[in-house]
Amino acid sequence: MDCIFCKIIAGEIPSKKIYEDDEILAFYDIEPKAPVHFLVIPKAHIPGAAAVTPENSNVIAHIFETIPKLAGKLGIPHFRVVTNNGEDAGQTVHHLHFHVLAGGKLGEMA
Ligand code: 5GP
Ligand code: ZN
Repeated sequence: MDCIFCKIIAGEIPSKKIYEDDEILAFYDIEPKAPVHFLVIPKAHIPGAAAVTPENSNVIAHIFETIPKLAGKLGIPHFRVVTNNGEDAGQTVHHLHFHVLAGGKLGEMA
């Protein structure tokens, strides 16, 4: 499949991994928008937030249980979690991902 994040999961494209298990992967964003900026993704190819269903939504809870553990390890008690769905919202990679941004005073955002 021509999906950059599936290729990262498969190890075909290198990434700076923070955490991995059977269901999810966390790795640093290649173009950080904050002092700390990593992405958390399901290993299953879900195209975006609009494609979350009762059948695949368990992984979302797992991601949100994992984020505070990673934040604790990285020493970032204050963080922002963002997902962009659709091109007008800024989605450029069509594999569901949660941006975790931290490491200083973040600018205002909805
Ligand atoms: P989006 O714009 O879809 O919400 O977020 C996609 C994010 O993926 C962007 O912040 C972009 O910098 C990041 N990204 C795109 N390609 C790669 C890559 O090959 N490796 C890593 N680590 N991040 C990437
Ligand atoms: Zn994918």
